[in-house]
Amino acid sequence: MASLDVPICQCPRCQAGEEHPDRIWHQQINLLLSRLDEAQRRWYVAIEADRIGHGGDQLLSQITGMDAQTIRRGRAELATSLAEHPPTRVRQPGGGRPRIEKKTPKS
Ligand SMILES: [Zn+2]
Repeated sequence: MASLDVPICQCPRCQAGEEHPDRIWHQQINLLLSRLDEAQRRWYVAIEADRIGHGGDQLLSQITGMDAQTIRRGRAELATSLAEHPPTRVRQPGGGRPRIEKKTPKS
């Protein structure tokens, strides 16, 4: 059964239908990526590629379909502490803790 709008992993093992141990991990990477924006995608993929080490870029490129060059770009941005991508600090209306109103006694 095809899952809802989750991109199928493009790595050779998943494509072959092999029941390998990383199958769920590959699916979850692609699921998460489907909810992230462009910049967040390359940062996350760069982190996962780093975790693998040698061959990580190639494997993550296979899993996600992301260009290896894009992964390297994400890694370079992380290396500079995302200096060019400062937090936007957009708060959802009604988000955060409820405000505690100080009751001023009426005189
Ligand atoms: Zn896969």
